[in-house]
Amino acid sequence: VIRCRAAVAWAVGKPLSIEEVEVAPPKAGEVRIKIVATGICRTDDHILEGSFPNVDFPVIPGHEGAGIVESVGEGVTSVKPGDKVIPIALPNCGECTFCLNPESNYCLKSHFSESQSLLPDRTSRFTCKGKQIYHFLWVSTFAEYTVIPEYAVAKIDAAAPLDKVCLFGCGFPTGYGAAINTAKVKPGSTCAIFGVGGVGLSVVMGCKAAGASRIIAVDINKDKLAKAKELGATDCVNPRDFKKPIQEVLTDMTGHGVDYSFEAIGHADTMTAALASCNMNTGVCVMVGVPVSGSVLSVDPMLVLSGRTWKGTLLGDSIPKLVSSYMEKKFNPDLLITHTLPIAKVNEGFELLRAGK
Ligand code: NAD
Ligand code: ZN
Ligand code: ZN
Repeated sequence: VIRCRAAVAWAVGKPLSIEEVEVAPPKAGEVRIKIVATGICRTDDHILEGSFPNVDFPVIPGHEGAGIVESVGEGVTSVKPGDKVIPIALPNCGECTFCLNPESNYCLKSHFSESQSLLPDRTSRFTCKGKQIYHFLWVSTFAEYTVIPEYAVAKIDAAAPLDKVCLFGCGFPTGYGAAINTAKVKPGSTCAIFGVGGVGLSVVMGCKAAGASRIIAVDINKDKLAKAKELGATDCVNPRDFKKPIQEVLTDMTGHGVDYSFEAIGHADTMTAALASCNMNTGVCVMVGVPVSGSVLSVDPMLVLSGRTWKGTLLGDSIPKLVSSYMEKKFNPDLLITHTLPIAKVNEGFELLRAGK
């Protein structure tokens, strides 16, 4: 058993609390990882607010980490102690009908099919003050050590800087993959990205890599818009600068709407606006933002009936492949890192996120 620090969420609506926790050794098919760095994704904030489905408390959140394998359980063959790895919040069991389908990046062992609050044998590896602590998406990267099923661990390039590539655990592959794999953005096309936080800025990078000729960033925070420009956005739009609905602004700017629109906020109204902003016949709209659990959208069916495609995505790209492209300097998500804090200041990190910093 390893004793180490972790940020524990004891209940909904409470700040995280830094605790000493016990982390049990990995059982068969599991890997214990020393987490070196972790990002804060907006989804972690959704957990603290209680708006993410199937989460049990007390829980150790965090799902955008990178680390080094400390030990492995019986039968583990794909990684060994000392390997650099990224825990994957969307597992890849390799056996279910979804994993066997090359078109799919979902696995039936994922959180939206069955809860990942406990490891596959329905027990936890974390305890604190004599209490069992739940896992989050099996990865729980807000702990100095965590235990994860082997098929939710991606081995990465041994030279990768862990304090940078931790973003490849969620935000970067989600946004980049939404453009490259889900929308399949074509060269010369026009794109609009609603919300340019960590995920939306990664969509901007994906659209640029795909050769889009016009990339319109939409956000209510002008500092985020400036960053979007640095990363490849050609136009920046703040909906608060206009009286008319943002979909009309984008249609005026482009003639018949954009070829591809992306929603990376998670609000019902911006999801509908993103759909209405793409070309009525050939437009593709990709939902990336996570809405409050239980939300319902009301849209005019004509928006889709005229031909638009409306899709969603979860963590849309291969992590080891992206880390290798990063090492070859094909893109530079380092600009997404605004602050670096020790684990003891994790709540300060959340305050910076909520303040749009
Ligand atoms: P973030 O908070 O860093 O970014 C959100 C951005 O949206 C901010 O820049 C904010 O200013 C902007 N915004 C808020 N309201 C707006 C409005 N009305 N109009 C325009 N812009 C507005 O969050 P993030 O970490 O980039 O995550 C974005 C969303 O993606 C979250 O909902 C998160 O849960 C979700 N997410 C989904 C996946 C997936 O696999 N699909 C993965 C990671 C994150
Ligand atoms: Zn995330
Ligand atoms: Zn599977």
